Formats: sequence, C-alpha cells, structure tokens
Amino acid sequence: TRRKYVVGNWKMNGLKEALGEARAIFAAADTHPGVDVALCPPFTLIGAMAAAAPGKAIGGQDCHSAASGAFTGSVAAPMLADVGASLVIVGHSERREGCGESDADVRAKAEAALAAGLSVILCVGEPRSVRESGGAIDHVLAQVAESVPDALDPQRFAIAYEPIWAIGTGLVPTVADVAAMHGAIRSALADRFGDAAQAIRILYGGSVNGDNAAELLDTGDVDGALVGGASLTAAKFVPIIEAAA
Ligand code: 13P
Repeated sequence: TRRKYVVGNWKMNGLKEALGEARAIFAAADTHPGVDVALCPPFTLIGAMAAAAPGKAIGGQDCHSAASGAFTGSVAAPMLADVGASLVIVGHSERREGCGESDADVRAKAEAALAAGLSVILCVGEPRSVRESGGAIDHVLAQVAESVPDALDPQRFAIAYEPIWAIGTGLVPTVADVAAMHGAIRSALADRFGDAAQAIRILYGGSVNGDNAAELLDTGDVDGALVGGASLTAAKFVPIIEAAA
C-alpha cells in the first residue's frame, strides 16, 4: 500500500524568517511517522532549510532539463540535489501557463530530475473551460501520456492532479470528480507501466486546507495532497498532515 504524501509548495513565498515555520512543520511531522511530508520552498531557501531541518524531504518547484549550461536564471536538477533537495515539482500549471512549458518540456525536466537522483512530483490539471465542457479526464490523460517519462522509478515518482480552477480559489471539485480523475490516471499508469504503476502516488492539489483535507485524502486513489497557501505556516499545514495520518 502507498504511504500518504503531504507536500507543501511555497511558490514564490518565504524569506529566511520563514525557516521557523519549516522547523515547526517538520517537528510536527515527526509525530506522524506514517505520513511522508515534504516542503518545496523557493530555490533561495532550499540550502538553508536543508541545514535547519537535516534529513527532511525538501524540494525545488522546478528544474531545467539540462544538467548545466548557458541558461541564465535557471537551476539544474543536480544543483538542487547539491544543496540538499531530495525532490522537485515539475509541470506546475503556473509554469505550464505562465512560462509556456509544454508537455515535452515537462517530460524532459522530469527525466533530468530522475537522472539527478531526485524524486519527482509531476503536475497535471485542466483549466475551468475544459472542466465545464466535460473534457477534464481526456485533457489530463493526454498530459499524463505526453509528460510522464517512459523510464521512471515508481518509488521516486508521483503525479499531482491540480485542477487549475481550484488553485488558490477556495473551489474544490466534488469527491466524485476527484475519485473519477484519480481512478482514470491510475488506470492509464497501469496500462503503461503494469504492476509497477501501483507504487506511483497520485496527489490532489487545489485549495486543500485543514477543513477539507480528511475528506479528500479518504477519497479512492488519492495518496496525498500538494498544498499551496495552507502550507506556509505550521498552524495551517499541520492539520493537513494530521488528516493524512
Ligand atoms: P493552493 O493550495 O494555494 O490552492 O495551491 C495549490 C497548488 O498549486 C499547489 O501546487
């Protein structure tokens, strides 16, 4: 059975003073050893957070697909590993939409991350118009088909289903819609990877908070949560960890 995985994506939030929140979050996580907890702060805080919380799962929010080179402003997967990251998020909708990343780009980033020894959380999710026109599952399965690498270690690979219209809006799909989407992703992975697919965790993300986490995490095929706003403080994030325990 898959261990529950609760991951905080701090997005572009957090100065050094926020490291105390990270320490408090990881201390609380230690009291729930059955749940895997990770934090993905901005690049600038990864090294300091790894020093403040040794041995904890800390990740980046993106990486370049190349291991090094003339890519001003970008960060390579081996650099993340070098400063103490053990995972990275790739394909977040804020990068697919805001930075024009294609499925092929996301796949290349995932491959680079796996090659650098990192675990990967690869994000997929449909815009509101696609949900409203009934095409959400087809849209997401196409993203999975095109952006999930062929060669992966299922122990180091997770997918996060994040409906774009649910991110930062307080809107959450119905439990039935979440179950249908996660089930569809699970079957697509099983068709492609066989039994190995059973180890791949599928997280839900989008307006997860302490009030809705338990219901979402109890939904079939939901193996965890990718949390934005409610991951920035221990007061908001720890109840989500507790809901997963
Ligand atoms: P919110 O939890 O703020 O809706 O963000 C979700 C998200 O995008 C996590 O990656």
